[in-house]
Amino acid sequence: MRWPAFHEAAHCSVGAGYFGHRIKTVWIGKRDGGYSPDTEWRPEYGVSEREFRLQEIIILQAGRAALDHLNNCKHYYDDWEAGNDHKLSWKRALWLSDGDEVAAGHLLAYAMRRAELLVDKLWPQIYKLAFTLLEHLKLDAEQIEKTLAI
Ligand SMILES: [Zn+2]
Repeated sequence: MRWPAFHEAAHCSVGAGYFGHRIKTVWIGKRDGGYSPDTEWRPEYGVSEREFRLQEIIILQAGRAALDHLNNCKHYYDDWEAGNDHKLSWKRALWLSDGDEVAAGHLLAYAMRRAELLVDKLWPQIYKLAFTLLEHLKLDAEQIEKTLAI
């Protein structure tokens, strides 16, 4: 039951901690988990909508990057393409590429690399958030912020 905690903690740490996106809740179950980001772009974020959508892809890729970090290797997942992290990433990448799949593929590779580096950098924070999640199973926006601030 540990890996969902690290996966979701990475989404939150990169999303709320690093990019300052609002994440309303995060939860884990025995073999799964989820987080609910505020997907509405607002000028208060201080970045253009395009930049915001690119940040979303990096946040989506961070979950997988955390598992690679945890296992100390790049993992291939059979069902990755069917998962929501991938589907939404691809949707955003296509939007940013005016529907061109080649450009979207490059963008996705860029976001994966950025996620990998950010997960390495933020690992102590991800670790702490993962253990807070394992203890409480569900956190709201305030609890996420509080844990990230310590
Ligand atoms: Zn995920």
